[in-house]
Amino acid sequence: MKTQVKALVVGGGAVGTGIAYHLAKAGWDTMLLERDELTSGSTWHAAGLLPLFNMGYATSHIHDYSVKFYKTLEAETGLNPGFSVVGNLRMAQTDDRMDEYALYAATAETVGIPHEWLTPAQIAERYPLIRTDDLKGAILHPTDGYINPADVTMAMAKGARQHGAAIERRWQVDGYEWAGDHWDVTVTKMVEKGGNLVASDETAVIAAEHVVTATGNHAPRTARLLGIKNPAIVVEHQYIVTEPDPALVEWRKTNEQHPVIRDADAKWYVREERGGWILGPYEQNAPARFPYGVPDSFRADLFPLDLERIEEEYMSFIHRIPTSETAGLKDDFNGPICYTPDGNPLVGPAPGLRNMWLAEGFSFGITAAGGTGHYLAQMMVEGEAEIDMASLDPKRFGDWVTTEYACRKNEEAYDHVYVLHHPDEERPAARPLKTAPCYDRMNAAGAQFGCVNGWERPNYFKPGAEADFDLTSRSFRRGAWWEHAKAEATALRETAGLIDATAFTKHMLRGPGATAFLDWFTTNKLPKVGRINLTYALTGAGTTRTEYTIVRLAEDAYYLVSAGAWQAYDHDFLAKAIADKTDEFGHMSLTDVTGQSGVFAIAGPNSRAILNKIVRDADPETVLSNKRFPWLSARRIELMMCPVNAIRVAYTGELGWELHHPMEMQNYLFDRLMEAGEGHGLTLVGARAQNWLRQEKSYRAFGTELGRDATPLEAGLDRFVDLSKEFHGKAAMEETGIRSKCVTLLIDGPSDADPWGREALYTTDGTRIGRLTSGGYSVAFGKSIGMGYVRPDLAEPGTKLHVRMQRELWDAEVTEDSPYDPTNVRIRVDG
Ligand SMILES: Cc1cc2nc3c(=O)[nH]c(=O)nc-3n(C[C@H](O)[C@H](O)[C@H](O)COP(=O)(O)OP(=O)(O)OC[C@H]3O[C@@H](n4cnc5c(N)ncnc54)[C@H](O)[C@@H]3O)c2cc1C
Repeated sequence: MKTQVKALVVGGGAVGTGIAYHLAKAGWDTMLLERDELTSGSTWHAAGLLPLFNMGYATSHIHDYSVKFYKTLEAETGLNPGFSVVGNLRMAQTDDRMDEYALYAATAETVGIPHEWLTPAQIAERYPLIRTDDLKGAILHPTDGYINPADVTMAMAKGARQHGAAIERRWQVDGYEWAGDHWDVTVTKMVEKGGNLVASDETAVIAAEHVVTATGNHAPRTARLLGIKNPAIVVEHQYIVTEPDPALVEWRKTNEQHPVIRDADAKWYVREERGGWILGPYEQNAPARFPYGVPDSFRADLFPLDLERIEEEYMSFIHRIPTSETAGLKDDFNGPICYTPDGNPLVGPAPGLRNMWLAEGFSFGITAAGGTGHYLAQMMVEGEAEIDMASLDPKRFGDWVTTEYACRKNEEAYDHVYVLHHPDEERPAARPLKTAPCYDRMNAAGAQFGCVNGWERPNYFKPGAEADFDLTSRSFRRGAWWEHAKAEATALRETAGLIDATAFTKHMLRGPGATAFLDWFTTNKLPKVGRINLTYALTGAGTTRTEYTIVRLAEDAYYLVSAGAWQAYDHDFLAKAIADKTDEFGHMSLTDVTGQSGVFAIAGPNSRAILNKIVRDADPETVLSNKRFPWLSARRIELMMCPVNAIRVAYTGELGWELHHPMEMQNYLFDRLMEAGEGHGLTLVGARAQNWLRQEKSYRAFGTELGRDATPLEAGLDRFVDLSKEFHGKAAMEETGIRSKCVTLLIDGPSDADPWGREALYTTDGTRIGRLTSGGYSVAFGKSIGMGYVRPDLAEPGTKLHVRMQRELWDAEVTEDSPYDPTNVRIRVDG
């Protein structure tokens, strides 16, 4: 066995093997270690389905890559991975489900995934064994199907070896130590003893420049060895195999195999297996298992079948394919399937560690293995993947995540596989957990909360109603929350709104090196003391890594505000960059103050009058005037007895301030603001209205318009990029040029729906030229609004385009940037 490699991949399931293949293909000296046999984790017992259907953009790309890649493996390796390209039929029992498929199809179109729509009559004609009288229709993917999980893994392993990778079995990784420029990885030879796999006395140390962990069900142990948090924990998942169904056997004499059939409303998939059926339900109450590690006695083992738990799904399968009733049960599989709290895997750099990459938590690991290998290898070899992988980044879960939390959320993610994936869905498990002090007051005011990085944050207010996690108001169109959000948005434009923005990520950076560091780290000129700037930190590829509002508190002290959802992600990036640059720029200290500082945003034409009632100053008449407190400046003010770092910005595009205050005084401040707002129309406003309002101002949001697949110049943020200075990622940004351009569009859409920011954009003659990244309703223009990326030649204001919503094309027009109050008159108003 080699003891020195460029990349060490730990874990020989489908995922690790796919990664080893792509790293070796990219020319890296790669070795894969497996503690047992290849595929002996979850891979061997997977049903092998390769569903292209996915509501996420990055995951859709990953699945699409895999499906295409697996079709090439036999030609490359001579091994047939057993890919049955039978297609995939997703049926709908409700109109809501058809709406879900329409939204999914919008995402699929932006990725270029083909699909076809079928009516119940067409389903019955093509597949007469399926009962269709209670169906609304179906969406069919002709290009996917199912594969043999072990065979595809072996084919990727052979391909990896052909590209020069070494694969060593029966070696378990037991320790990782960072040696400054490489990892020293301690490994132990594993041997069979009485049917168990146990450690022998033979050990070795492997020096690896980079390590990737793809340890499947062993993720909790891996996290412990690395000293990090990792919420990947397995849940039980079962499928059953029936004896041959005579009607199916007969039908197959003259017909092709059925596609993989999914009755999402009944929560199951079915595929053919040797004249019978495989039924895979995603039932309720499947328990999390092995939260602290897989016992040695559990090798390629299974749990006992729990037929009672899947009885409902079994009965609905017989309802849907009535001939299956005669087919007895032949086999069953109840295996561990890895989940994470949001159901997406963890792919990317490990928090706090160098050259350590995670590929853990895969619930669709057979489908994702090829694509994960491709895009992760791009990240490792080239510095960035061609798609934005942030939605899979391990650091989307912060250090606050516990084992108990992960178990409850992973169970929820499992039983939500087939729920309607409403874009406005909020999931209830393990909530409320992180609450700002004003939570109870907001709750009493009817707040319906969303969850951002664990924080409860009001989405909208339904006065008089209990918080119900939006269970009753979700929709693919305009949900029951829409009227509330519209009233809030209108109130903020006309009078004043108060928004709880406590979830913002907040860092303090101080020290002699801080100014030179931030000047190099971010794209914009640094603000003068007392002023603020919007600025961007770039990836090495010149794309946007993080957006910051920087407040300069003193010559060498800065307060950095970034998106609430990305606290650990932003902290890790900053901390690593500071550690790298301290020798060059001088000492700095970084503190995450997210939990110490609450934030209220007050905005609207009456906001100054409201604050004037409670501000205390030697000259209270002028303290909030343009002269003493101009737009884009910051000041310490006192609001009665609460000291506040006030920042004159408003993400809504109205006169307004962000009030950063001591968390422990939040309720005091809230009460004073609400009292002062009486008679001024001060209205509590949630995140949904805010999201609409910021689009009227063309304010880009991180995670939608801003991410690692576009540069700030492509995002149209030239005014925040100071090309006269050097900064991280500048050369790569300039070299990239403008591949597409961010635009705002006003849309004449359907009367009952707005875009969600996933829809494909077309020219009026039908050429697909881009996609929406945000969507909503504009109270200022009385129609739908969206933001997105289009071909640069189509970014001119006035350009007419089409957007696909609810399976139809609707007129859209590119507006000038900031269609509402383009010259910022309202924001700058004096008083
Ligand atoms: C019943 C069932 C049906 C499923 N059906 C499907 C399906 O149809 N389609 C689909 O896409 N997915 C399906 N899945 C999920 C799929 O099985 C997993 O997502 C996938 O196998 C995960 O692959 P992996 O490589 O991440 O993990 P694993 O296959 O578990 O591989 C991890 C490997 O790492 C090794 N390892 C762990 N720790 C160490 C260490 N310290 N040193 C060395 N080696 C180590 C383990 O021995 C193991 O072989 C199903 C799962 C179940 C339970």
